[in-house]
Amino acid sequence: MTSEVQHKIDQLRQTIEDYNYQYYVLDQPTVPDAEYDRLMRELSALETQNPELITASSPTQKVSGKMDSAFQAVTHLTPMLSLDNVFSEEEFSAFEQRLYNRLDDNTPLAFTCEPKLDGLAISIVYRNGELEVAATRGDGKTGEDVTQNIRTIASIPLKLRGDFPPLLDVRGEVFMPKQAFEKLNQTAIAEGTKTFANPRNAAAGSLRQLDPTITAKRALAVYFYSIGSAETDLADSHYERLLQLKSWGLPICPEVEKVSNAAECLSFYSKILKSRDSLPYEIDGVVYKVNQIEKQEDLGFVAKAPRWAIAHKFPAQEEMTQLLDVDFQV
Ligand code: NAD
Repeated sequence: MTSEVQHKIDQLRQTIEDYNYQYYVLDQPTVPDAEYDRLMRELSALETQNPELITASSPTQKVSGKMDSAFQAVTHLTPMLSLDNVFSEEEFSAFEQRLYNRLDDNTPLAFTCEPKLDGLAISIVYRNGELEVAATRGDGKTGEDVTQNIRTIASIPLKLRGDFPPLLDVRGEVFMPKQAFEKLNQTAIAEGTKTFANPRNAAAGSLRQLDPTITAKRALAVYFYSIGSAETDLADSHYERLLQLKSWGLPICPEVEKVSNAAECLSFYSKILKSRDSLPYEIDGVVYKVNQIEKQEDLGFVAKAPRWAIAHKFPAQEEMTQLLDVDFQV
């Protein structure tokens, strides 16, 4: 029986690694995200039932995303992690319960609720207020140096404003607004070149260009959502920290809200799901983050993600046929 389970686990790990390579390295996914998520859940469930079969190199245990040697490597000042997912209200309640159990404290937890932007994560280091280096997430420890490309994005300040810290490593999502994505594909069709499958692929392909003048033409945007490290006294809540970022000139998503309990998280989810189509950017869910930094510190991290945050994914929109019908471009 164990060897059958081991075999199934090996198969799932291999398939997921292949999909990771196509998605993160080639920017050319071959299956919809919902199918990828289904395999990851199957693997996680088997590993939970058979913890002795978990290995450090399993895709459930590490941040995915490899390095392309065409770019210089950058070691992140602090690791760039992923997020755990829930797909239903019941799973979210179980997540909330785990928070209270781990903290062993029933003081109500407040949350910051944010749209889960469908782009790619970026870390930008500002030294003395000047943009010094920008890197993709890569494998979480080391990313690709995309500084020259990042400098072409209009909404990213080259210099911070106000009372900024001498050193700031800020994290955010680079994305392509829906309008820019449609225009890019219309131009590609008119010119007979390949189209992009979705705005996420377009953003990743546009940022990971060796020629920054191509990136400059691609109308990318960014919203910042966390601080990797900063040499200053930071606010004691996640929400206030986002406001600090804004005061330094870094754009944050206008939909972000602070709520005082889990029920309000679910109201946020419903509201954003309803407005999904009218938002100017693609999202694939919402993210809830424990607002109190002290609680975040008590909760800590697992190998791949913080324990104090969770992505609540939307039902799949993407169809297999969409992926199979469209040619991809890096
Ligand atoms: P993820 O995209 O599920 O979540 C983590 C990422 O969310 C962060 O790195 C960050 O980039 C992003 N993010 C967006 N808004 C955020 C916010 N407000 N706060 C914090 N982070 C925010 O994690 P992942 O590990 O990069 O990717 C896994 C997902 O990617 C899968 O669930 C699947 O949907 C997709 N994927 C698909 C394939 C495929 O073949 N189709 C392959 C690999 C991954």
